[in-house]
Amino acid sequence: MSEESLNVLKRAFREYYFQRDAIEIPTRIEEREFGYLPFGGFMTRHLKLKNKGELTALLVRESPRGVYASCSYYEDPSLPMTEKGWKSGDLAFDIDCDDLEMECKKDHDRWTCKGCLLVGRGIRPARCPSCANTKILTLNWSCKLCLDASKDEIIKLKEILLKDFGMTRGKISTFFSGNKGYHLTVENSEFDALDQRGRGELANYISGKGLDIAKLGLSKNADYNNMVSRLPVLGEPGWRGKIASFFDDYEFEGERDDGDIKSKIANYYGKLSPKKFGAIIDLAIRSRGAKIDSVVTIDIHRIFRLAGSLHEKTGLSKKRCDDLNSFDPTTDPVEIKDEPIKVRVSMSPPFTLRERTYGPYKSEEVILPLHAGVYLMGNNLAQAVNS
Ligand SMILES: [Zn+2]
Ligand SMILES: [Zn+2]
Repeated sequence: MSEESLNVLKRAFREYYFQRDAIEIPTRIEEREFGYLPFGGFMTRHLKLKNKGELTALLVRESPRGVYASCSYYEDPSLPMTEKGWKSGDLAFDIDCDDLEMECKKDHDRWTCKGCLLVGRGIRPARCPSCANTKILTLNWSCKLCLDASKDEIIKLKEILLKDFGMTRGKISTFFSGNKGYHLTVENSEFDALDQRGRGELANYISGKGLDIAKLGLSKNADYNNMVSRLPVLGEPGWRGKIASFFDDYEFEGERDDGDIKSKIANYYGKLSPKKFGAIIDLAIRSRGAKIDSVVTIDIHRIFRLAGSLHEKTGLSKKRCDDLNSFDPTTDPVEIKDEPIKVRVSMSPPFTLRERTYGPYKSEEVILPLHAGVYLMGNNLAQAVNS
């Protein structure tokens, strides 16, 4: 990135951190590990901050590109990881549209060959079709469909935590991640003490990983009536109820639905090949579970973007959005000003901010509102032009 672009980004971030109480001050601040990524430098971690004053001082002094805090609480967060003394930790969940296998990626994702600079659309090829180079940069983009899909997943996640785990609304916080998805944290709950293994099981339950159809009562060896009696019904707790509800909604092509879910499941289990039936179960899992990034939930040593801070790739804020339905991820987290800036864009798929759609661009100079310029520069798709 050019010096000029770095300066523009740093100035925009600094103005944001200066002008107001942008960051949400985390609870139990002195027990958390902090870290930040400066402009033009490497990540600094294992910081211990005593209070709100020290955190605001850090933000104003560094205007960091990214700033993070642990969800875990330690005896002494400034010590090396093995000596910190882990006490407990908030639950943390991450949903990213890159994991949702969206069809629209074919339209908006791009790749660039590092050898001949050829740019292509969609999923990155193993080799450049022009020069056979295997060094290829990918650009994972997001569009309204992607962001809507991420929102659907976070809504499902919240419902599972409330209904299946009996968590209380007041302890759950949801945030737009600042880029392509959502974060959810649960603080001060009976799950705080869960170790990595327990968190792994929680993650598996939420995503439906490892769901065993024998547990639903399905078996090729059982007598039909005996099997039907063991199948799930609507309203059952846990995954049995979720599978029943999926079959209740699912319409099999050209089939009449007599309303009895147990026989509906049993009939299709008998009629379809194991592969086809398995695909329907996979669909049920996708539809009723939430597609979370399990690594984030399991890794208790991770530091998580601070609520209210700006995302280094987009300049959008990690915005609290407890009312998910009304939240607009292309408008609500846009915090950087709209004063005009001239940038040279190498290329960019279209994107929308504050109800205005920009691009696509290809090797051109454009004048954009600062927040749109930052969005492109942060993604390394544009450079500031001295004017
Ligand atoms: Zn090439
Ligand atoms: Zn998309």
